[in-house]
Amino acid sequence: MNDAATIATRAETFDVEAIRVEFPILATEMQGRPLVYLDSAASTQKPRAVIDALARVYEADYANIHRGIYDLSQRASAMHDEARRKVERFINARDWREIVFTRNATEAINLVAQCFTAAKLGPGDEILVSEMEHHANIVPWQMIAEAKGAKVVAAPVTDAGELDLEAFERLIKPETRMIATVWVSNVLGTINPVTEIVGLAKAHGIPVLIDAAQAVQHLPVDVQTLDADFIVFSGHKLYGPSGVGVLWGKAAHLDAMPPYQGGGDMIERVSFSGTTWNEIPFKFEAGTPDIAGIIALGAAIDFVERIGIEAIARHEAELLGYGTRAIQQVPGLRLIGTAPEKASVLTFTLEGAHPQDIGMMLDLDGIAIRTGHHCAMPLHERFGLSASARASFGVYNTTGDIDALTKSLHRVAGMFQ
Ligand code: PMP
Repeated sequence: MNDAATIATRAETFDVEAIRVEFPILATEMQGRPLVYLDSAASTQKPRAVIDALARVYEADYANIHRGIYDLSQRASAMHDEARRKVERFINARDWREIVFTRNATEAINLVAQCFTAAKLGPGDEILVSEMEHHANIVPWQMIAEAKGAKVVAAPVTDAGELDLEAFERLIKPETRMIATVWVSNVLGTINPVTEIVGLAKAHGIPVLIDAAQAVQHLPVDVQTLDADFIVFSGHKLYGPSGVGVLWGKAAHLDAMPPYQGGGDMIERVSFSGTTWNEIPFKFEAGTPDIAGIIALGAAIDFVERIGIEAIARHEAELLGYGTRAIQQVPGLRLIGTAPEKASVLTFTLEGAHPQDIGMMLDLDGIAIRTGHHCAMPLHERFGLSASARASFGVYNTTGDIDALTKSLHRVAGMFQ
C-alpha cells in the first residue's frame, strides 16, 4: 500500500472510543465525576501497552544492561537497544548513535548548552531564542551565558502568537553563537516555521537546536529533512513514561563534544593516570539508565505508529477547530494564541475570574486543565498576563470533552461576571 492509501485507511479506521479504552485512567473519576483530561500538553496519559511494557520488564525481563553475561541481562540489553532503534526510525535519524537517552527534554537542552555551546561563548556573544520559549529553553542558556559574559536574546512574538520571523532574522548577528527555538509552543499552540528557522541559521552558519517537546506527539518529525543540529523531546508527552527523554544530535557534533556527566558506562578505560570516553551515544549516558522506562518509550512509539501520527494530527486538528469555535462563545473569554498554524492547545483568560479559580471550578466538574504561567513567564509578560488557563488535547480526547469544558466555562463566566 502506498503512503496515501495507508493514511486514507487509517483515517477511516480512526476510532477515538476504541483508543480511549486503551487508556485505563480515562475510565476513572475525578471529584466523583467521569474524568475529562485536558492537560496532555503537561503530560499525556498512558495506554495499556505502555503500562504493560513497564510491568512486563520488571516481572520477566529485568536486569542491568550492557554488563551481564547472563541471559536475562542480555535480553534486557537487547530490548533497551531495540527501543533506541525505534526512536531512530520514529524521527528518521540516520544512525542510532545519534540518539542519546536523557531524563527529559530539559536535561537534553542542558546537555547541549553545557557540552556544545558553552565552549563557543565569549563576552558579548549571544544566544538567540524566542519570546515563546518554555523555561527549559531559556534558563539553561542563561546559565552558560552568565558564566561566559554572553547574553540570551529573545525574538518577538506577534499579537496572534506567531514568531516575528523578520525580527528574528534581524536579531541574527555576527555575535550569535547558537539559535534555540521551540517547534510547537506549549502555551500558544503555534507551530513555528522550523524549516525557515533552520534555513536562516544555516545561511548564517549558526548551530540550531529545536525543542520538539510539543511537536513529536502532534506532527511528523523527520530529523534528516529538517537538518537542525539538535532536537530534543520528552517521552512522557508522547504517551510514554516520565523519566525518559531524547536528545538527537548530529553524530559529528556529538563525537566532538565532551561528556556531560562522568561515571560508569560513559568510559572506554579508567585509570588514575587518565580516563578515555566511550563512543557516542554512551559517552553521554553515565550510570544506569531508566531501563524499563526506555523500553516502555519504545512501546509508546509502537502505539503512536499503530494509529499513525498523521491520523492523530487530523483528529486533533478537528478538535482544535471545534474547541476554538465553542469556547469563543463563552462571554468574556480571551483566546491567547490565534496563529493559523496551531497544534491542539487552547489557552485563555476569562474576564473577572483568576485562572486559578477557573481551574478549581472545572476540577469540581471532573475537568483537568492547567492554570498558571505554564513555565513560560516571559511569554505571559508579553501578553500582559501573569497567568492563564490552558486546555490541551491528545489522541484520546473527544468533542464530548470539549462540550463538557465549554459548559463548565459558561457556568464559571456566569458566576464571575
Ligand atoms: N519545552 C516545551 C515546549 C515544553 O512544553 C516542555 C514541558 N512542558 C519542556 C520543554 C520541558 O519538558 P520536560 O519537563 O519533560 O523536560
